[in-house]
Amino acid sequence: MTQLPSRSVIVVGGGITGLTTAVALQASGHKVTLIARDAPEDTASGVAAGMIAPAMEAMNEPDPAFSYQRLRNAQQAWREGIELWPPRLRFLWQFAQEEGHSYFIWPENEGDGPPDRLVMTGAELQVVSAETRKWLNLQPELQILRVMDDGRVPALHLLKEFEAHFLVSGGNLIRGEVYGVEAKRVRVRHGGWVNADQVVIAAGYGAYGLRHPVPVLKKLSPIKGHLLDLSQITNPVVLRSTKGYLVGGSTGGAFGATMQAGRADLDIEPAVVADLKGRAKTLFPDLELDKAVPRTGIRASTPDGWPLIGRDPASGVLVATGMRRNGYVFAPMAAKIILALVEGRESPDGGIYRPDRFRNPEN
Ligand SMILES: Cc1cc2nc3c(=O)[nH]c(=O)nc-3n(C[C@H](O)[C@H](O)[C@H](O)COP(=O)(O)OP(=O)(O)OC[C@H]3O[C@@H](n4cnc5c(N)ncnc54)[C@H](O)[C@@H]3O)c2cc1C
Repeated sequence: MTQLPSRSVIVVGGGITGLTTAVALQASGHKVTLIARDAPEDTASGVAAGMIAPAMEAMNEPDPAFSYQRLRNAQQAWREGIELWPPRLRFLWQFAQEEGHSYFIWPENEGDGPPDRLVMTGAELQVVSAETRKWLNLQPELQILRVMDDGRVPALHLLKEFEAHFLVSGGNLIRGEVYGVEAKRVRVRHGGWVNADQVVIAAGYGAYGLRHPVPVLKKLSPIKGHLLDLSQITNPVVLRSTKGYLVGGSTGGAFGATMQAGRADLDIEPAVVADLKGRAKTLFPDLELDKAVPRTGIRASTPDGWPLIGRDPASGVLVATGMRRNGYVFAPMAAKIILALVEGRESPDGGIYRPDRFRNPEN
């Protein structure tokens, strides 16, 4: 087999998308410079609950069965990509699979069976044993089903592990803000130009700030989210309902989350926090919320709600953003697509997330 030439690649963004992409490129022999403005804990990826939940995400979409298939395909890339990862990351992922059992709960007054939209996804739903129900300590009026194949990873923990692995494997990390982009170089504030064979923008909603040099990024819009950090929730479980979700695990838990379309600020809003706490109390009256720490993050969305992964037609720059609520689901698939494009191969997803699917990608 012909050996592909090694490329130098700049990846802008150190959230889950940028890091999985950087690690995949590096593992395939490319020389990667990662440029990230914020520390992992200050990114949307660091705030996220870490659910990889094709079914419970798809049930909220206009066509649950179609969305479920797309999200399941993306989830599959975690399993494929895992071969590229070092044992420690592989272990974390497998551990998360054991920890992240996911359940959908609903009050009796919302009907006997699970919501139609969850059934429409086609996901396997399993009846829960009396022991599990007891262990979960649920209110008697709540009904519950296990949603097979939905799961959760310890988001911030995994992010830090990816960053550490990138560094020990010889990756070059620049903590700085990119404000100028061309096909083969970027300009870092107080740091001058950095050159490479290819540039990838994986900067979440921060990518919108680079829309002038990379016009397709004008398509991004923000969705702010509040979430309550609950470090005391160590029960390894995901409990999801129409009012919110409670996640827990060995690295702590959370209750969330809001979807505030059009908002790009990180302000903590007391009224929104009070509303979240109220919803949490309705579902879980015993939950201690005094120590809850509110956090906010910004998701990047696109006009059709699906990610933007591929080459910007005008600038030639590669982009991987617009992950909306599903950055953890899509990150390894984004990495796989970007790796193929860097190496001059066809996009393995058939190009469904290409930026030029939008008419007038430059406006
Ligand atoms: C409250 C909340 C809960 C969520 N829960 C889940 C969940 O359970 N499951 C799930 O799959 N998704 C969840 N999400 C969505 C998820 O967080 C995002 O889809 C995902 O984090 C996007 O990752 P990213 O790497 O693309 O972007 P980000 O995590 O936003 O990272 C962007 C990176 O780019 C850097 N950057 C930005 N601009 C520049 C610049 N100009 N120069 C240099 N660097 C720059 C930033 O510093 C950062 O490193 C949640 C989001 C929120 C807000």
